Amino acid sequence: MAMRRRTLLKVIVLGDSGVGKTSLMNQYVHKKFSQQYKATIGADFVTKELQIDDRLVTLQVWDTAGQERFQSLGVAFYRGADCCVLVYDVNVLKSFDTLDNWHEEFLKQASPADPKKFPFILLGNKIDIDGGNSRVVSEKKAKDWCVAKGNIPYFETSAKEDINVDAAFLCVAKTALANEREHDIYFQTIPEAVTETEQGGGGCAC
Ligand code: GDP
Ligand code: MG
Repeated sequence: MAMRRRTLLKVIVLGDSGVGKTSLMNQYVHKKFSQQYKATIGADFVTKELQIDDRLVTLQVWDTAGQERFQSLGVAFYRGADCCVLVYDVNVLKSFDTLDNWHEEFLKQASPADPKKFPFILLGNKIDIDGGNSRVVSEKKAKDWCVAKGNIPYFETSAKEDINVDAAFLCVAKTALANEREHDIYFQTIPEAVTETEQGGGGCAC
């Protein structure tokens, strides 16, 4: 009989202000989109329950305000994160160029046990704008960046048109879960979890 255990996964969404972090989360959790721009203040989270294989998972997704610098959010905010979602706007070069900083700063603040293996996911958002004619960052350029950072999964999304949003967050959940399972094995806290992980397929199927 498969073990039933609810797992809480902490996910942090980072990226420049205005790239669509809050909109992506709203689309994913509430199936809603608003043109209105409302700056996120401080940090807030939404949760979504989902089932992955035989596991009940609560995805706790933390939203941040892009203009906030890391220090002001505090180290406790990043500690215990299971996955970090980086977002940029395919129509704004600067939002792509700052990805390096977000990536680096996250690792500095969260200081995961194995920084090289910590799971990130990159989302190139707003692909709907002007039918793609105003985009300045090519898919290839984004994918090259992902390869350079250790094969980060990449999704092109539109929070407005609900393109790839579910797929991206499912990948987030699976990746976070796989990471969390590794912790379980490492610390040997829950022996049953080892049996479960041996079923394999921990990686993201996206
Ligand atoms: P945040 O600062 O990263 O949280 O960005 P927001 O989610 O607040 O979005 C900033 C602005 O971009 C808002 O006016 C949104 O309506 C708009 N926006 C977000 N995602 C998309 C998208 O996929 N397509 C389009 N056309 N607009 C978007
Ligand atoms: Mg926001």
